[in-house]
Amino acid sequence: MTVTRFAPSPTGFIHVGNLRTALMNHLIAKKAGGTFILRIDDTDPERSKQEYVDAIQEDLEWLGLTWDKIEYQSSRLDRYAAAADELRANGRFYEAFETPTELDLKRKKQLNMHLPPVYDRAALNLSDEEKDKLRAERGQGVWRFKLDHERIEWTDGILGDLSIDAASVSDPVLIRQDGQVLYTIASVVDDTDMGVTHVVRGSDHVTNTATQIQIMAALGHSAPSFAHHSLLTGPQGEALSKRLGTLALRDLREAGVQPMALLSQMARLGSSQPVELCESIDELAAGFDLDHFGSAPTKFDVEDLYPLTARYLHGLPLAAVADQVAELGVPADLAEGFWNVARANITTLKDLPGWWELFRDGATPLVDDEDRDFVAQAFDMLPDPPYSAETWSEWTKAVKEATGRKGKGLFMPLRKAVTGLQRGPEMADVMTLLQKKPTL
Ligand code: GLU
Repeated sequence: MTVTRFAPSPTGFIHVGNLRTALMNHLIAKKAGGTFILRIDDTDPERSKQEYVDAIQEDLEWLGLTWDKIEYQSSRLDRYAAAADELRANGRFYEAFETPTELDLKRKKQLNMHLPPVYDRAALNLSDEEKDKLRAERGQGVWRFKLDHERIEWTDGILGDLSIDAASVSDPVLIRQDGQVLYTIASVVDDTDMGVTHVVRGSDHVTNTATQIQIMAALGHSAPSFAHHSLLTGPQGEALSKRLGTLALRDLREAGVQPMALLSQMARLGSSQPVELCESIDELAAGFDLDHFGSAPTKFDVEDLYPLTARYLHGLPLAAVADQVAELGVPADLAEGFWNVARANITTLKDLPGWWELFRDGATPLVDDEDRDFVAQAFDMLPDPPYSAETWSEWTKAVKEATGRKGKGLFMPLRKAVTGLQRGPEMADVMTLLQKKPTL
């Protein structure tokens, strides 16, 4: 049984980078008919906010990335405490008392001597008396996991065979001085308790994975399959980290990006397969395979989402937007015609009201000086609405006969005068939607 999870920390809004993780895990579970867990990594009571927990769920629901189960780390603290006890009993957990300043000093010394800045394990040599004394002076220490100094190896679902020398990694702090359990151990306990079989996350977690594999083993568990996707960059390959704040999913929604456009792009970006607009998450899942992804940083251009959104809308039937069309005040008998004309001419649904206003109130005519008399004469020949599918051809035929104009010289000034635009939908269709007779 395939079990995956998406594990955001509710310390901010989720963005396109998080989405990649969420989507890949969701698709793997979906394709296998497995379980997708939404895990809220809220062990940090200061930075975790309910507002963000709600927002994460709202954003995922907007995209249709629904979850089978939701879990909160904050309600599993006893499980983490039990795991910590087990590590203590196994001799894999030790208390250390260095202050951040002392650690910093050690690191600087190591770097000066061209040594890797790895924690020197000085705390391992403390006697019980020394520890008591330090505790009396400084309060509780932090708890570090004692890594086995061997190579940690796994076959990564995206990066292939990986091997990390545990001696090049500091023994990770799993419990802070104030007793707060840190993500590294909480995640291990959750992944094993919840039977997670596949973990896909960003490549910034590769070192965590190495240590987590050892922690899992120390707790008597085997590791799930790990895969690390490359990080997103901007279109020029520039780091995206600073701009991720402006690429929150809710901002994209606000900007009119369609869920399937975003998901279609994210499911393929960084893979050997081209981005293709899919109609459903099931379709995305069917074609999804981690094997297609590579380790190179993945270029992301938010602008690419708009043509995809437009294409999605162009193929959308009225039924999918009937409520929004009705809300604009489009009469039911015109809804189909209106949507057929509008959908071919919009980029996002935010453009829709503008089209209805044009048909309802008329446009500000665009008239060149030399066409002014011609347009005035033509408008005089137009009856009042309602107009039919024949109105445009009948009207232009009559105008042609009366003025002698033909071709572009006939049609363009009238199109510009009626719609206020140089180009746009078929004029025969436009006429059927006009609610008022155009005037100058
Ligand atoms: N809360 C962690 C993060 O957002 C989860 C990482 C993981 O998937 O294990 O980075």
